[in-house]
Amino acid sequence: MKLARFTAGGPPELGLVLGDRIVSLGRAAPGLPTDMIALIAAWSQVEREVRAIADRAESGLPLADVRLLAPIPRPGKIFAIGLNYADHIAESGVEAPQQQVWFAKAPSAANGPFDPIEAPAAGYVDYEAELVAVVGAGGRRIAREAAPAAVFGYCVGDDVTERRWQHRTPQWTLGKSFDTHAPFGPWITTADEIDPHGLDIRAVVNGETRQSSNTRHLVFDVWDQVEHLSGAMTLEPGDLIFTGTPGGVGAAMKPPKFLRPGDKVRIEIDGLGAIENTCVEALAPEPT
Ligand code: ZN
Repeated sequence: MKLARFTAGGPPELGLVLGDRIVSLGRAAPGLPTDMIALIAAWSQVEREVRAIADRAESGLPLADVRLLAPIPRPGKIFAIGLNYADHIAESGVEAPQQQVWFAKAPSAANGPFDPIEAPAAGYVDYEAELVAVVGAGGRRIAREAAPAAVFGYCVGDDVTERRWQHRTPQWTLGKSFDTHAPFGPWITTADEIDPHGLDIRAVVNGETRQSSNTRHLVFDVWDQVEHLSGAMTLEPGDLIFTGTPGGVGAAMKPPKFLRPGDKVRIEIDGLGAIENTCVEALAPEPT
């Protein structure tokens, strides 16, 4: 199933994407949670009802007539793994890490699948095409064997990064946490429909393919990642895990190609759809 958050002009709603149409869960079944994290947390009780809506194949609204929003507007946590594809490790000029390298992206960086991202002309903003895992029931100390059942679904994501801020200090978190710099979507595809380790993934900037790989090349796969992260902290429903980016980021080009206002960044993952974000100078005024 493909679960989205959208607006048809009114307040945000949850929806089920069926082909080129979207069915509002709230209109089809008013008793269902109206918040995506609550829906994920209640999934074991509500899955049957949501599946029944899919099976009824209600006509819903044309997908083209609604605006898709971030599936989860404020995830409890956004964690991301660095240096997790061999070609990206090589282009970064570093040794392959023996340990998983984790950093946080602020939950306030979450952004819609088709909303603008801040990439000012004077900045060093870069794209990173990534498979995003959405945590389901979650838990602590989840063994690798139990990890598949801990993932609710998958999205397309862009781990947008301000490279200058990333490398000013050994800690990457600020350079990864600018407002608008975690666009994801266009919806959550439930885990039962996807093998996360065999998906073609691409980043296309202004029509030019910059990254093209397959998630089978992940150094630490999704199950390793869930096991490792949950060794430190409780994973909770709706937490996001950005699973790493392949080679071809703008910073590694000679000369580097950073994003500029007006650039269009499209991230595609087979089976999960695509997101496309346009770069803008700034959404908030510069600090004085
Ligand atoms: Zn990344």
